[in-house]
Amino acid sequence: MTTLETKINQLKGVSKTLISRLRKLEIETVRDLIFYYPYRYDDFSLFLPIKKLEPGITVTIKGRLELLANRRTSRKRAMLTEGLVSDETGSVKILWFNQPWISSSLRQGEEYYFSGKVVGDMFDLHFNGPEYKRADLATGNQASIVPVYSLTQGITSKQINLLVKSVLEVIDKIEDEVPEKVFAGEKFPSFNSAVKEIHFPKDKNSLASARRRLAFDELFPLQVRSRLLRKKLEQATAYKINFFQEETKNFVNGLKFNLTGDQKKSAWEILKNMQADQPMNRLLEGDVGSGKTLVAALAMYNVALNKFQSAIMAPTEILAHQHFKTIKKFFGSSGVRIGLNTSAQKIIDDHEVDRAEFLKACSSGKIDIIVGTHALISEDLKFKNLALAVVDEQHRFGVEQRKILKEKSKNHPHFLSLTATPIPRSLALTVYGDLDISIIKEMPAGRKKIVTKIVESNKRHLAYQFIAEQIKKGRQAFVICPLIDPSDKLGVRSAKEEFERLEKEVFSEFKIGLMHGRLKSKEKEEVIKDFSDGKIKLLVSTSVVEVGIDVPNATVMMIEGAERFGLAQIHQFRGRVGRGEHQSYCFLFSDSMDPDALTRLQPLVETQDGFVLAQRDLEQRGAGAVYGYQQSGMAGFYLKIADLKDIELIKKVREAAEKFVEENDLKDYPLLKKKVDNLDFSDHLE
Ligand code: ADP
Ligand code: MG
Repeated sequence: MTTLETKINQLKGVSKTLISRLRKLEIETVRDLIFYYPYRYDDFSLFLPIKKLEPGITVTIKGRLELLANRRTSRKRAMLTEGLVSDETGSVKILWFNQPWISSSLRQGEEYYFSGKVVGDMFDLHFNGPEYKRADLATGNQASIVPVYSLTQGITSKQINLLVKSVLEVIDKIEDEVPEKVFAGEKFPSFNSAVKEIHFPKDKNSLASARRRLAFDELFPLQVRSRLLRKKLEQATAYKINFFQEETKNFVNGLKFNLTGDQKKSAWEILKNMQADQPMNRLLEGDVGSGKTLVAALAMYNVALNKFQSAIMAPTEILAHQHFKTIKKFFGSSGVRIGLNTSAQKIIDDHEVDRAEFLKACSSGKIDIIVGTHALISEDLKFKNLALAVVDEQHRFGVEQRKILKEKSKNHPHFLSLTATPIPRSLALTVYGDLDISIIKEMPAGRKKIVTKIVESNKRHLAYQFIAEQIKKGRQAFVICPLIDPSDKLGVRSAKEEFERLEKEVFSEFKIGLMHGRLKSKEKEEVIKDFSDGKIKLLVSTSVVEVGIDVPNATVMMIEGAERFGLAQIHQFRGRVGRGEHQSYCFLFSDSMDPDALTRLQPLVETQDGFVLAQRDLEQRGAGAVYGYQQSGMAGFYLKIADLKDIELIKKVREAAEKFVEENDLKDYPLLKKKVDNLDFSDHLE
């Protein structure tokens, strides 16, 4: 008996070649096959007489094949298969390129259905490479919606679809992980018929409701997980942080600038949140340069006034140093004591100390704010009373970090994640549903727009001229490359190669620097220091500069191989310039021959709004690519069908999940529990 676990090679009539090709698509079992959903559909449901055909439409016709012949085209020597189809209303040409076998699988004089796109103009209308089926073999009207699967060489969508058909009865036996009662009162089709509909759509409407049902099924476990995490945190205890209003006001008045409205609002949300004795779990979103660090500093200041400790964790040493500097500047003479802890260096206030001394100062509560890298969660670092943990530029605390930090403290610390990747609301609701969110949309006054241009490859020398002029005026510049080392295959520029070339051939009169992730941390620090001090005029780097480097004197960001980065990521690069008083520029270059590669980047030219860019990025590349679940420990989570733009559905699922969690114990639903637990970025929920 065939089940979900049956191997494809045990199915009857599947050739060895097909099996090995399916393996390339990671289809090894019937389960893999059934859940290998089409990625799009050709809609051939429009059925027309030939007379009614127009260029541009996708349509099905039924007609007699009058003529059929192969010939070589004069240009390019392609093989062309040409035919003529007629019905009572007229006739139309059909063409296939380089598929000569088609002429032997079709017979003149027979009647067929042809489905495809009509191209040409009024005077020369034809079908280009249509699908076909003999009319006498067709069941019912052949006009239909045809699934298209993402494929590897040598497999057709038809083959996959036929194979699914051969295991159709297995689909009926699948048990949905989401309990049926969740759907009570909804007009969704059953899970099983929805899965069938996905492979064998009847019509547009039933396909749409099948997709809705399956989208619901994908989103539900995520929402249940969020709900449970929230509940768990509500039951945990945190240190209560009183809001020292006077002191906070004085602190703010001592700054050289006024807070933006959004900074005030976010700080207020955070401070209010920390007054409770349940742990805060909050995300602070704001574009590069919007002043998140300051907001976090206000929170840490109040924690210090309450005689508790805070830690702020940065993803890189560079960024940890930067924060240490900034935070020290903020706190100047306030009496708050600050420590820096990276694996390479420990500093308390202005003095470098050894490891033992640092550990002692931390565990005895002598340091109020500890800035660091992952070294913060190293085992031997103990806190006296950690009340607030801030993570910068990382989408959120990983399970492990959360656990470790919690173990370092008697109570559960309040958590604050800072991110410059603007997360569209729909995604926030889906993936970060367990978090509260504060948003800074307003930029500090006086920030200039960064002039952004997509530049053709052959004008690279003009960009170099421009950079040289800027450097002569005293400014600095970045050149970003997608790779560290040269690679023949990809044809993309590498940092090392560009560095050498630019140093020798283009900017020999200036000092230029090289930066990439494989440098030792001491070397990195030196490069950053020399760049910050203005010794290095031009810095060639890989994407490691994406976060953290704050050199207000830098005015040009030139990006090579820009098509290889996402919009949100380029926006981050761009945020490295325009941080000072000088007009700044961002130039996007690509060696790609693909014209789409460059048009994809156009939104960067049109807007500087990180939220808009994040949304576009999401549409272009999908959530997984944009938000790097893999890296942030969110492997196992991806959405095949659910559309993150569909806020309405997401809200609906969220409500259903809330209700479900209130009224049920997950333990009674083992299938769902397994699914939720396997969203392996989640805390374990037992
Ligand atoms: P983010 O972390 O959001 O990218 P930062 O907190 O590093 O931004 O702030 C960027 C720069 O702007 C810092 O030099 C900071 O001191 C400054 N800054 C922060 N808030 C304001 C403000 N309201 N007005 C002017 N400058 C500000
Ligand atoms: Mg920052």
